[in-house]
Order: sequence, then structure tokens, then C-alpha cells
Amino acid sequence: MTGLAGKRALVTGSTSGIGLGIARQLAADGCSVMLHGFGDPTAVERLRDALERERGVTMRYDGSDLTRPEAVAALVDATVAALGGIDILVNNAGVQHTAPIDEFPPERWDAIIALNLSAVFHATRRALPHMKRRHWGRIVNTASVHGVVASPNKAAYVAAKHGVVGLTKVVALETAGSGITCNAICPGWTRTELIEPQIAARAAALGVGLEEGARALLAEKQPSGQFVTVEQLGRLAAFLCSEDAAQITGAALLVDGGWTAQ
Ligand code: NAD
Repeated sequence: MTGLAGKRALVTGSTSGIGLGIARQLAADGCSVMLHGFGDPTAVERLRDALERERGVTMRYDGSDLTRPEAVAALVDATVAALGGIDILVNNAGVQHTAPIDEFPPERWDAIIALNLSAVFHATRRALPHMKRRHWGRIVNTASVHGVVASPNKAAYVAAKHGVVGLTKVVALETAGSGITCNAICPGWTRTELIEPQIAARAAALGVGLEEGARALLAEKQPSGQFVTVEQLGRLAAFLCSEDAAQITGAALLVDGGWTAQ
């Protein structure tokens, strides 16, 4: 349906959550995929093998720590070697840390900027020459509503995600008309491992259970009162990779249940 059969994709941070939702959808659309991220080796191998057999596509896995620039370049190179090239790059790996700025540990700042922002630069610069040679490419960056608006206690995350939205626009302008597009997806609350600590903290502060804590988190920011799902984000990413989206570039697409409409 999306015309993606045979494309070669790297999805960073795809061992869980949003990245896994995107990797599953790209595999369903016929892409070969390099899965990437941390995880229990046995569980990751089971996942890789199941996707490969169910979808009839090549699935490979790499567990590099992307806070190191040389590891990011090596991951792109490993994808090219394993899949025969790279047509689609999804920069998705990310972490969170919440604290007021005067209590924010500088090493957490450095780690979040390294993974959530700098790794996007390092992967993009390494992958682009391959895409330029084929006059076709798709770069999808998982930013966040926090690439567009701020919340307290998220200094590094908000700074990094605003940076990702800006970087997305630069890449879009530099590649415009070349067959390559670059867009950012900006989700609101999506129930993954990344936000479970925030749900737990809210539940503890209110003296309620996790589900009520989750509802309180949604009520504060996300007018729909519902979580975004990883399947919805997977299908949006696949659409951005399709020919129908060839003229969508440099966009920051909000998927936030009305969060930023307020
Ligand atoms: P997640 O914790 O399920 O996934 C994070 C992925 O990144 C995992 O595969 C993990 O192994 C990988 N990762 C973590 N540290 C890494 C490192 N140092 N090197 C390499 N890989 C590493 O969380 P998620 O919610 O699916 O997050 C995915 C992306 O979505 C992130 O960029 C996050 O900022 C963004 N996002 C999440 C939400 C949300 O509400 N969950 C909202 C907006 C944006």
C-alpha cells in the first residue's frame, strides 16, 4: 500500500515503545529493518526472529549505545553492510530525566543532549550520502510536543527536542527537491517505558494507583484524555515514507490529542 517493499530502514531505539511500533509497521510494509536499542538479548532475538518470519523481510539487530558519536556512525555503516543500503532513517532513540534546572545533574544533561539531539545529527550526516546517491530517502525524527512547547523540570529534554525540530527543518531545506524528505513526529503522552516513572511519581504524589496517576497526567496536558498509541505513530511514520508524502518535508507533525491547541 505504501510502496515501501524492498526499502532498507534503520530505526534507532526500536527494541520497545514508539520505535518498535514504527519498525513493526515498516516491516509490515515490506521493508528490511535494522532493529536497534537496549534489551535482554534473548527477548530481542525472539522479537527479531518473529518479525522476520511473520513479515518475510530481513530483520537485523544492533545494541550500540548512541551517546557516543562514533557508535552512531558505526550503526549506520553496519546497517548499510547488513541490508545492502539505507533508504529510511528513523531517529527515535531517546531518554528522559526530570528535575528542576538548579537540581538537574550535568551528566544527565550531557547524556540527553548526546542521545536525543546529537545522535540525530551524527546518524543523518552518515546516512545522507547513501540517500543522495539513489536520489531517494526518508528521514523521520521522533521529536515530541516538547519540541514545540515546554514543561517544567524537563530542561535537557525540551532543549534537545526543540533542537531536533530545528535540525529537521535544516535537513529538509538542504535536501529539498532531491527525492529526500525529513520530518519530525511530535507525540504527546504515549504509554511506553519512558513515561512510566512519571506516571508512578504522579500516582505517588496523589496517593493513588498507577491508572489514576496516568489519568491525572493526561488530564493536565492532553485534552483527548487518551494516550497516543505506538501503532498510530507507526502508521504515520510509514505514511511519511510513502510517495504520497513526497511533498511533506520540514514538518513537525503534532500527534498530541489537542495538547498544543490550548
Ligand atoms: P522507550 O523507553 O520505550 O524507548 C526508548 C528506546 O531508546 C529503547 O529502544 C531504548 O533501548 C533506546 N535507548 C535508550 N538509551 C539508549 C542509548 N544510550 N543508546 C541507544 N539506544 C538507547 O521510550 P519511547 O517512549 O518509545 O521513546 C521513543 C522516542 O519517543 C524518544 O525519542 C522519546 O523522547 C519520544 N517521545 C516519547 C513520548 C512518550 O510519551 N512516550 C512522547 C513524545 C516523544
